[in-house]
Amino acid sequence: MTQAAELERALDLLVKANRILAHEQIVDDFGHVSIRSPVDPGRFFISWAISPGRVTRQDIFEYRLTGEPVSDLGRRPSYSERVIHGAIYEQRPDVGAVCHHHSGALLPFACSDTVLRPVYHLGCVIGHEVPLWDSQDRFGDTSMLVDDMDKGRDLAGALGANALVLMRRHGAVLAGRDVRQVVLMAIYSAENARLQMQAMAMGTPSYLTPGEIDRAAAVILSPAGIDRSWPNRCARAGLSTD
Ligand code: MN
Repeated sequence: MTQAAELERALDLLVKANRILAHEQIVDDFGHVSIRSPVDPGRFFISWAISPGRVTRQDIFEYRLTGEPVSDLGRRPSYSERVIHGAIYEQRPDVGAVCHHHSGALLPFACSDTVLRPVYHLGCVIGHEVPLWDSQDRFGDTSMLVDDMDKGRDLAGALGANALVLMRRHGAVLAGRDVRQVVLMAIYSAENARLQMQAMAMGTPSYLTPGEIDRAAAVILSPAGIDRSWPNRCARAGLSTD
């Protein structure tokens, strides 16, 4: 595949990821997903500031990791919270895609002292630990938006080497190898959160052991696991399944 073809393929997956995340109610009017450029690791692609469910190929633009557009967009730049994405790509060379959302499934864990943990095998996607970042700790009263690189880098620091960080009274950020993996992680972390709440309403949940998390993740997040999930999620969202 030529570099240009590889880039177009990546951008097509990014458009689909936007639409799938909207269809699966991970993102709503707000929230966003990005990819690191497959051509230049110092840049990333994200839609300008529209709801993910409306994103098409023409809405995607390229940014430097510090959040500046690579070229003049001729319109309002992307989401002010695009710095979340840049700061994570800056800190985590292993990360190829990032999603920030305010899913109602995860929010109870972002505004309480209950720790999100895997309660079933597909919940392994959240990993061993889910840190909770509070903008109040370093920045005091703000609009709650992560809208400058200082805040973005602080949040990226809280994420550390993990897959998911919760943002107190705000939402969550997921970081993965590529955009198809991040979509799968977003869907099953939300499902795990719903199941954990149901289990807690019934009694004391039983959680995956660290060894089970590793072994389950090796299967679910494998290329075979992603190849099973992605076409199904495309079809559910009314998209072509490639
Ligand atoms: Mn937000």
